[in-house]
Amino acid sequence: MATDNNRFQAIIAHCKEYGFIFQSSEIYDGLSAVYDYGQWGSELKKNIRDYWWKSMTQMHENIVGIDAAIFMHPTTWKASGHVDNFSDPMIDNKDSKKRYRVDHLIEAKADELEKEGKKAEGDALLAEMDKLLAANDYEGLKKLIEDTKIKCSVSGTGNWTDVRQFNLMFSTQLGSVSEEASEIYLRPETAQGIFVNFLNVQKTGRMKIPFGIAQTGKAFRNEIVARQFIFRMREFEQMEMQFFIRPGSQKEWYEYWKEERMKWHLSLGIPKEKFRFHDHVKLAHYADAACDIEYEFPIGFKELEGIHSRTDFDLKNHQLYSKKKMQYFDPEINQNYIPYVVETSVGLDRTFMMIMSEAYTEEDLSTAEKQDSRVVLKLPPKLAPIKLAVLPLLKKDGLPEVAREIMNTCKSSFKCFYEEKDAIGRRYRRMDAIGTPFCVTIDHQTKEDGTVTIRHRDSMQQERISASQVREFVEKHLI
Ligand code: ATP
Repeated sequence: MATDNNRFQAIIAHCKEYGFIFQSSEIYDGLSAVYDYGQWGSELKKNIRDYWWKSMTQMHENIVGIDAAIFMHPTTWKASGHVDNFSDPMIDNKDSKKRYRVDHLIEAKADELEKEGKKAEGDALLAEMDKLLAANDYEGLKKLIEDTKIKCSVSGTGNWTDVRQFNLMFSTQLGSVSEEASEIYLRPETAQGIFVNFLNVQKTGRMKIPFGIAQTGKAFRNEIVARQFIFRMREFEQMEMQFFIRPGSQKEWYEYWKEERMKWHLSLGIPKEKFRFHDHVKLAHYADAACDIEYEFPIGFKELEGIHSRTDFDLKNHQLYSKKKMQYFDPEINQNYIPYVVETSVGLDRTFMMIMSEAYTEEDLSTAEKQDSRVVLKLPPKLAPIKLAVLPLLKKDGLPEVAREIMNTCKSSFKCFYEEKDAIGRRYRRMDAIGTPFCVTIDHQTKEDGTVTIRHRDSMQQERISASQVREFVEKHLI
């Protein structure tokens, strides 16, 4: 049984072995902090995305979705503050030349202190760091690193450069190289595509405040410390929703969305105690209140989602830079104003990692007679890549023909997988490993009385039902 420490490694290995996630460009030794989703990973990811999309745009009558381009006019990022502010304080070790994010370096030290039984000391260190970060006191941060005797993990020395800021945006050129090319950025968040379209959507959709605009899509950040698998990537996917509200009502809506988003995570069947809220001490340049929903990954409690009260910062600045009005006329109070915004921003990859972490289970099935075990992904059935495996017991006696009929009846309703090769037990185990909630087995009795065996993934219980009821049965259990 994997311990918490090596459980994470076991999950990473499982993701690769069963076609969920591969290192990008692996044949060229990979590209650091960039990953590809394989045949089952992309299905699971899509199902998570669809579930979020439905919860936003279908379950809320006042939220609509858009799909904005990744490239945006370069002034967007001036207006949003990303050109000037989207940077992290970094420090380099002069001996190893390794670069660290200052907060990560200090957090690692605090973790170390906690493990040594000096939790109070670790907490005090974090509190001091928060204070210095909030004050942008880089000299103070360097002194804190030196005073706490933090060493580089590669060189083992405390020979540090000054703390400096590094912008996290990737830039590229639009237009041919020989002509005058203009520098543009790969978006570091999807939110700005929503802000610049705020009036387009409001007017064409005849939306009335309060209303929301949702979007899912790729974002890019040149993360310096990029490890921990898909937790911190350079290319990742966000699921964001900007909720436009009347100025002054932000506190109420901030609380509403905190609660609403927590409910969404709990609806995945994850226990309450695996989540916590973390209020931001150092607020981002756009926020008047902000918190994270943290989940207890195998690598500890870490940010999964951000809920931010963004005030009118973004719309006001786009109005300023574009010289186009970003105002809304509120017929209820007969006033024009720039709306305030509460944002919910969750990482799709981090949600994927959370769901994998919850689902991955190693089970010991040994009996007095023989040793046995299995790895099963206890995924919520509604998110599972495959809902039903159709398995004829033998490759002969007309069983594959009956199985094919079941396959044809079911495959337009949900994703099915057909397999005739290998002993049935081995086929079950392969389906367990990718989280398929149901297997249907067609045997000789099927030909006699028209019944089949349905096997439940988690309990491994089997029951016989009529072959004609398989589709209904699976649909009923897709929760
Ligand atoms: P962190 O502090 O972990 O860098 P952040 O506070 O910068 O994250 P936000 O800007 O609030 O993150 O982005 C919203 C969400 O996008 C995060 O909660 C996270 O789920 C996801 N996210 C951000 N950066 C990454 C990344 N490099 N890789 C994967 N997901 C990310």
